[in-house]
Amino acid sequence: MDAVTRSQALAAYAAETAGCLKCRLAETRSQVVFGSGNPDAELMIVGEAPGYHEDQGGLPFAGQAGELLAQLLAGIGLTPDSVYFANVLKCRPPQNRDPLEAEIAACEPHLFRQIELVRPHVVATLGNFATKLLSGRSLGITRVHGQEQEVTLASTTVLLYPLYHPAAALYTPSMLKALEDDFARLPALLGHGTVTPVARAPLAPALEVPRRRSEDPDRADADRALVGAVQLGLF
Ligand code: URA
Repeated sequence: MDAVTRSQALAAYAAETAGCLKCRLAETRSQVVFGSGNPDAELMIVGEAPGYHEDQGGLPFAGQAGELLAQLLAGIGLTPDSVYFANVLKCRPPQNRDPLEAEIAACEPHLFRQIELVRPHVVATLGNFATKLLSGRSLGITRVHGQEQEVTLASTTVLLYPLYHPAAALYTPSMLKALEDDFARLPALLGHGTVTPVARAPLAPALEVPRRRSEDPDRADADRALVGAVQLGLF
């Protein structure tokens, strides 16, 4: 399928998905947040789920996490328009709670179809949910971030590249540093040669946020940061 045909198929699939009733999130969402960006992108970025701003506006990464992503992309010479953005879940979970297994299973075909139609070279997964789903492994993001792995998803072979979630990195300087370092390797993974990353504007200082209980020790830092992000309306 050529790029034009794939792009048309993606638009048709988005229209079809707008009425999705495969899980109970359909009862609480404002709208389906399908995905956005270049339908022929070399780089696809996969987050967790829409938050408040995305649910209202219909586009992924509409809040501060998206701003940080745009800055990180600019640092390696890419614009958000050149990338395709999607999430594991296409509908916002109430109160931004974690995605449920049943929701992930119901929504998974949408993400796999997106990958099949966009055919990216690199799929960067943000945080645990996207990474575990697409790698098919249970290793947490702290263990695997920055380690690319060739995987075949929906009969498309891609380089899977796990990254810390920017919403978590916004509040944890060590994660932000790791995210920047991992981002700096993206041009090489995309076959663009070495690009010297351009410095970003400084972010607001890290905030003290309460820790959320988690059974998965690997999630502790990200959870603490995400709880703060939620409280500040980033999701
Ligand atoms: N916005 C999204 O679209 N996805 C995330 O994972 C976080 C914020």
